[in-house]
Amino acid sequence: MPIRKLQTRNIWCDICKLAYPKNHPLHSTPAVLQVMSETQARKGMVKSYCQRCANDLQTWADGSIWSFRDQLNYAIGKEEINGMEFGEL
Ligand SMILES: [Zn+2]
Repeated sequence: MPIRKLQTRNIWCDICKLAYPKNHPLHSTPAVLQVMSETQARKGMVKSYCQRCANDLQTWADGSIWSFRDQLNYAIGKEEINGMEFGEL
């Protein structure tokens, strides 16, 4: 962690679980990786993603790639900036 590739086949993708109804075949899509949040607010929260959702989340509309690693670093950086603003009040 924070990003872990999954070997097991019995963890389902969190996004597909929400996106498809229970009786839909894609409701239970095996997850291929898990991302653990490192920000203060969501620390320790684990999200599981299948390959398709992972690709979607790391690709922007213009085709550029923003990796989970960079997204985590961005979230942590943003929180630190917020923390500084609070500190100055
Ligand atoms: Zn998925």
